[in-house]
Amino acid sequence: MSGIEALATRLSTYLGDDQVNLVRRAYFYAEQAHDGQRRRSGEAYVTHPLAVAGILADMHMDHQSLMAAMLHDVIEDTGIAKEALTAQFGETVAELVDGVSKLTQMNFETKAEAQAENFQKMAMAMARDIRVILVKLADRLHNMRTLEVLSGEKRRRIAKETLEIYAPIANRLGMHSMRVEFEDLGFKAMHPMRSERIRAAVRRARGNRKEIVNKIEESLIHCLAREGLEGEVIGREKHLFSIYQKMRGKRKAFNEIMDVYAFRIVVDKADTCYRVLGAVHSLYKPLPGRFKDYIAIPKANGYQSLHTTLFGMHGVPIEIQIRTREMEEMANNGIAAHWLYKSSSDEAPKGTHARARQWVKGVLELQQRAGNSLEFIESVKIDLFPDEVYVFTPKGSIMELPKGSTAVDFAYAVHTDVGNTCIACRINRRLAPLSQALESGSTVEIVTAPGARPNPAWLNFVVTGKARTHIRHALKLQRRSESVSLGERLLSKALSGFGTQLEDIPQERIAQVLAEYQMEALDDLLADIGLGNRMAYVIARRLLASEGEQAPNVDGPLAIRGTEGLVLSYAKCCTPIPGDPIVGHLSAGKGVVVHLETCRNIAEVRHNPDKCIPLSWSKDVTGEFNVELRVELEHQRGLIALLAGSVNAADGNIEKIGMDERDGRISVVQLVVSVHDRIHLARVIRKLRTLAGVERITRVRA
Ligand code: MN
Repeated sequence: MSGIEALATRLSTYLGDDQVNLVRRAYFYAEQAHDGQRRRSGEAYVTHPLAVAGILADMHMDHQSLMAAMLHDVIEDTGIAKEALTAQFGETVAELVDGVSKLTQMNFETKAEAQAENFQKMAMAMARDIRVILVKLADRLHNMRTLEVLSGEKRRRIAKETLEIYAPIANRLGMHSMRVEFEDLGFKAMHPMRSERIRAAVRRARGNRKEIVNKIEESLIHCLAREGLEGEVIGREKHLFSIYQKMRGKRKAFNEIMDVYAFRIVVDKADTCYRVLGAVHSLYKPLPGRFKDYIAIPKANGYQSLHTTLFGMHGVPIEIQIRTREMEEMANNGIAAHWLYKSSSDEAPKGTHARARQWVKGVLELQQRAGNSLEFIESVKIDLFPDEVYVFTPKGSIMELPKGSTAVDFAYAVHTDVGNTCIACRINRRLAPLSQALESGSTVEIVTAPGARPNPAWLNFVVTGKARTHIRHALKLQRRSESVSLGERLLSKALSGFGTQLEDIPQERIAQVLAEYQMEALDDLLADIGLGNRMAYVIARRLLASEGEQAPNVDGPLAIRGTEGLVLSYAKCCTPIPGDPIVGHLSAGKGVVVHLETCRNIAEVRHNPDKCIPLSWSKDVTGEFNVELRVELEHQRGLIALLAGSVNAADGNIEKIGMDERDGRISVVQLVVSVHDRIHLARVIRKLRTLAGVERITRVRA
């Protein structure tokens, strides 16, 4: 019997004749399409799709998956178009083949790229039809089984990709058997010597252990019989790759790992699981802290079982898993178990697919009940690498960032200059806050402006060290240059009070004063003045000390331009705006804080020249200044919108809005509005007054 006929016989145990014939037709189509092509082993190429279909038949997959398996390399390797497949086999099968081809075509430059690409493609494929992934996994499994004929380098590349990508996917989908096979085959291809050594060691250990294994098995069987419980006791061994990982990861000796005896007890229903657990706990003492109830709280991939560890005779540890037959199927085949459990052969394929989705949904519900939905939602997204997010630049490059990263982290990851001049961002083409945490798969675009500077508030939300370091550095530089220039203005001001200017002070004298203060450069001194650490007036007197000083004659205040930056700030208590009479309070480390002349907070130091300097607004002052208004008005519907509309109509911006009290008729609204100056503020207030029901508007000052 030829290969396809043997498969057809197997298929007829669970598929209808029509469906088996469709699979046959797909086979003959593939045979013709691949005619003349050979595998590396010399066999006709079609043996490969046939074997892939065979793997899916073991899982009792539906006829469309099997047809897609037969045709999965046709688009890729023979140049037949998807449309031709649609015409021959229908939309669904053609879509499946196309999906598998797309997954096959992925070529990964870096691991990060592989994972991100993979994440997206997988997520998309899964959303459309989960069978695409199952066919792809079967394809990869057959390639792994026949890896030996490939050259060393290619073999290692495929094995590595299998361990990094396909084994985790199988695991996420709960397909334990496939994962174990991927891992053992991948391990063998990557490290043939180590794999062989562990295999031999396991074989030797098996002989030594046989007696103990038999004894434990017998006592477990007796124990169940005594309690009148039915269950199958199976001894189990760890697979080679997991032994290897334990030896490497946990630095355990081979003997230590093999000293554990592991059994599985498979029973009829969940209730029996717990009774068996009770029975074995009375047989041997359980190891505290090792009991896990994955029946009540399943793992993220849907795995259910009870786990416990016992002290056997002479203290040998015995690991026991207890589960039902159905849980066992689920543990081995995961999502594919649905096709295995298909009730009737004539059920619509849509029904099976729907049930697979139902499975995903079912696990979700289980997880929610267990209060663990987050974990599962993560896994449904097939985010295989949960500690990182992968986002795309507008040109499609992939950036890997730690979880929780924001657009600012992204900007600094692209380039320091991009970070430093970033002012806004678009996430998936929409404007979004710079502080928003990025999600895998998003496309992030940074909007920059020449001359823009990092905002100190960014330090509150960035997560990458790179962003943090560069923001701090930029702020420090900025602060430095701003304080130097403010210091220079303050000092010039003070010197002009003595009828002189900085340029007229001899260099030697400046050097002497710097030496007195143990400073190296004039800029250091100016920065200190700008930061409010030293009084300009005092320094001016020092500089002039040898030249017969005069009484200060301060004529006219320092003019504020609004562009002084970090070394000049506006007091929050009285929120001065251009046009208000103001005074500068020198506060160490913070530079000059601008207060209203009448502000109560500085009343005590108002006339102390060491603490306060006279200020005025420069004619060309620019910027937006916040003021707080208190509006009392009759309560009415849509009041906030009305107020916002008026402020807007007067070109003001609302920064904050709050409703304080409401005594029946009157509402009191607190508005923080940003304006250019007093004239602008007057315009805003006039506009607000025109609103119906407004009783009073006052500007709030401390
Ligand atoms: Mn293939």
